Amino acid sequence: MSSVFHRIPKRHLPVAVKGDGMYIFDRDGKRYIDGYAGGACVSCLGHSQQEVIDAIRHQVGEMAFFHAGMFTSEPLEELASILTTDAPEGLTRVFFTNSGSEAVETAIMMARQYFVEVGDPRRKKVIGRRSSYHGAGLTGLSVGYQVARRTPFEDISPSVFHISPCYEYRGRLEGETPEQYGLRTANELEQAILGLGPESVMAFVAETVTGTTSGATPPVPGYFKRIRDICDKYGVLLILDEVFCGLGRTGTLHACEQDGVAPDFLTFAKGIAAGYQPIGATMVNQKIYDAIVGGSGTFKGGYTYSGHATACAAAVAVQKILRAPGFLDHVKATGNVLAAQLKDRFAQHPHVGDIRGRGMLMTLELVENRETKAPFPAALGLSSKIYQSAQAKGLITHAQSGTVDGHVGDHVVICPPLIAAQENIETITSLLSEAIAIALEDVR
Ligand code: PLP
Repeated sequence: MSSVFHRIPKRHLPVAVKGDGMYIFDRDGKRYIDGYAGGACVSCLGHSQQEVIDAIRHQVGEMAFFHAGMFTSEPLEELASILTTDAPEGLTRVFFTNSGSEAVETAIMMARQYFVEVGDPRRKKVIGRRSSYHGAGLTGLSVGYQVARRTPFEDISPSVFHISPCYEYRGRLEGETPEQYGLRTANELEQAILGLGPESVMAFVAETVTGTTSGATPPVPGYFKRIRDICDKYGVLLILDEVFCGLGRTGTLHACEQDGVAPDFLTFAKGIAAGYQPIGATMVNQKIYDAIVGGSGTFKGGYTYSGHATACAAAVAVQKILRAPGFLDHVKATGNVLAAQLKDRFAQHPHVGDIRGRGMLMTLELVENRETKAPFPAALGLSSKIYQSAQAKGLITHAQSGTVDGHVGDHVVICPPLIAAQENIETITSLLSEAIAIALEDVR
């Protein structure tokens, strides 16, 4: 019997013993195609990339780790230089963490410290969106809105105000264009700032393309431009969380490039070292860096393993592959194949209400009734049945049920490693189609 405290102890967990490209093998020799990039985009370069393995081996041999508060290291400096060279405008500095949760928490702490340093300490309120995930610590859970996960901790978490997500499938009104819907939804931020008192609001936090809570949900055109304008109007800092959707996943290096905005903070994690080492990062605007360094001189956050040399060495190797000529073109092209295949297979499906996403981050939203968009009753456990039948067929996918902005629904997220070839996409969508059919049969 296992003495590990697994997060979902009732779930059957095969023992993974080997990864190879698009595949994971369990102890019994069963092969699984990875439709979820090693668990939420982690192994975006696939398993067993030789350059990354070599970089880790080399760094461990030279110096695995030393506290980056005492010595900087070559991989740490090189990684920061790579990430800042092609960052969105103004993001000239990067602070390293060990995870996405810490990256978001760091951004929030830096935002607060910035206002303290510039003599505006009244600004302390944070606004997030319903239907988002920003990490599993108290800060991330309170800024995010995964109802089931945050509820037990609400009384001991920082209080955060939430506005509607940009969730076109459920939110756009009849007769409204996507652009009108985007403006209306973004304007909720202005209402919230005015309601809370503009002088007291510190930051707005959003995932550029949401990842887990509502499945992949991209914003409509113009939404984030309006959000950026509102933040600028009221002096509120914009934190975009690209832990899930950043670093190539959507077909561009940063998802926010496609929305034409640059935030004050941009967070990453999964795509930095592609899961070969745990590492996260918070990119920071120069004005925030200047205020902290020119003020008290020290950022008050930070972690023992921030800037871990071996994690940085792995990340340098991954980031070089991501920026190699043609790599992002491959991601874009494969993303188009993925979207086209999902549409071919599911556009007419009586229980697929929405097919959405961006690049190599796509979602199917399952409904009992396409006309009314009514979801299946949660008690049927459709998502978990899809997950299980996919696993039995040798497909790793992420099917989840959850409450999204008041709607209970079942979502399947498809985000294979970025190296996927067209035939891998065909296999993934075909196995998924079989898994969904079995699960639907089971709930009928
Ligand atoms: N932010 C987003 C958008 C995420 O998707 C996640 C994890 O899935 C996190 C933050 C938290 O990252 P981590 O699990 O590395 O702490």
